[in-house]
Amino acid sequence: MLPLNPRFLLATEDNALARTLSWVLKENGYDVVTALGGPQLIERLDQEEYDLMILDLGSGEQTTLDRLTRVREDARHTDVPMLLLTDPDFDAERLEPESLGAADIVQRPYRVRELLARIKAHLRVGRALNKARAEARSRNELVAILREVTASLNPDEIYQILVRRVATGLRIARCSVVLAGPDDNEGIVVAAFENPTLRNLPVQLSKYPEIRRALQTGETVLVEDIEADPLYREVKTTWEGLVGDSRTRSVIALPFLLKAKTAGVFFLRTTADDPPLNRLDLGFAEQVIEAAVTALEKAYDLEKATDGAAELRELADTDPLTGCGNRRLLEERLTEELDRAKRYDQVVTAVVLDVDDFKRINDSRGHQGGDRVLVDLVTLLRRELRTMDFLARFGGEEFVILLPETGSTGARIFTDRILRRVANHKFGTPAAPISVTVSAGLATFPDERATDAASLLKLADENLYKAKQAGRNRYRD
Ligand code: GH3
Ligand code: MG
Ligand code: MG
Repeated sequence: MLPLNPRFLLATEDNALARTLSWVLKENGYDVVTALGGPQLIERLDQEEYDLMILDLGSGEQTTLDRLTRVREDARHTDVPMLLLTDPDFDAERLEPESLGAADIVQRPYRVRELLARIKAHLRVGRALNKARAEARSRNELVAILREVTASLNPDEIYQILVRRVATGLRIARCSVVLAGPDDNEGIVVAAFENPTLRNLPVQLSKYPEIRRALQTGETVLVEDIEADPLYREVKTTWEGLVGDSRTRSVIALPFLLKAKTAGVFFLRTTADDPPLNRLDLGFAEQVIEAAVTALEKAYDLEKATDGAAELRELADTDPLTGCGNRRLLEERLTEELDRAKRYDQVVTAVVLDVDDFKRINDSRGHQGGDRVLVDLVTLLRRELRTMDFLARFGGEEFVILLPETGSTGARIFTDRILRRVANHKFGTPAAPISVTVSAGLATFPDERATDAASLLKLADENLYKAKQAGRNRYRD
């Protein structure tokens, strides 16, 4: 990994000076970006950060001095180290101390060696300043990020927050979280700042040598310039589109542990247009992840616990043979529906269904054949229900259907249809079909005989008995 060249912004209106000075600086190992004139200067400053700004003030025309003031008034650039170049007739007293900041003045004609010495001194000061600024930023950012992260209880959401906050905090275009273990060949991208809608995209890790190394060693990999790093020699030829197109310039792969196990990496990249990632960026990302890991572990624990609770609850509420609700759930739902009906002055109908001569089916087809009929019956009934309706197995071969917002007329039509569908359906196997019929008893709330869940079901059951008495395959209400 090569250390990166310090980067300068050279602002002047003098074309010849721009050319010669940037040539000299490049020869001495610095990167130079030039800005000719005011608008370009602000544009360049907004685009990236510089280690040093060299501003040519000439003999101090007002427009040039205004430019200096504008740079200094912008909060982001107040402490950019600055070297001012002036003509010999320039009167330094004209500069406000605020706008001068930490600037140093060099008068023409200057000797190259002296200029380079001043630049070196400036870079030392500049680094210290940059560091202080980055630290302040990371502390503030960190508090804000943590507040957001700990407010979230969902791991997916936390990953989304992290990539967004780290990418915007460091002003980089690409930041993602890839989940994978130390020996995995495939990883899963769970969040990517560059593509907010992306979820759980599998990626081949052979294309990402830095991720692999980070996962295997458990240590952060920082590559400031991938062109110069041997890690990429092999993959570069196979790289296409997704990873890193050839424009990727610098990379950080930061592994993180969940419950003491390597769980994945934070993956930060800059393109050739961005300033490269450095150790300060790395420090910031490390602090964010370290702090977020606790929140992530909690979120995963919670997810597991609530998943388990929901599963248990579902098991406790479900009839294992048919998968429909059981008696316990029916009682709960019926109470809810009656409360709602009372509150909004609505009607509810309960239909109790019982398979006719089920003993005969069990006798001829065995208990398992009987079970099969019950499962098929539930499938058939489900097709007839609206989403608001509710089906429960009340016991044995007896079922209850709740029809919210349905009075006796609607319930009769519904039950009539059900009886016909069941009677016309071929249960059993094509080789050995079974004819099945059901009888039904209806009760509609409100009714003076049906004032609560128990009395409503009792009324429906009495009506079922009447239907059986009257010859089966019919309903009574
Ligand atoms: P009816 O028309 O009067 O309802 O006659 P039926 O034969 O259906 O009579 P009844 O309701 O009294 O009998 C129900 C039978 O259903 C008794 C029991 O052996 C059987 N049964 C109850 N639960 C199950 C089950 O889960 N699977 C199977 N295969 N049979 C069951
Ligand atoms: Mg029966
Ligand atoms: Mg029965």
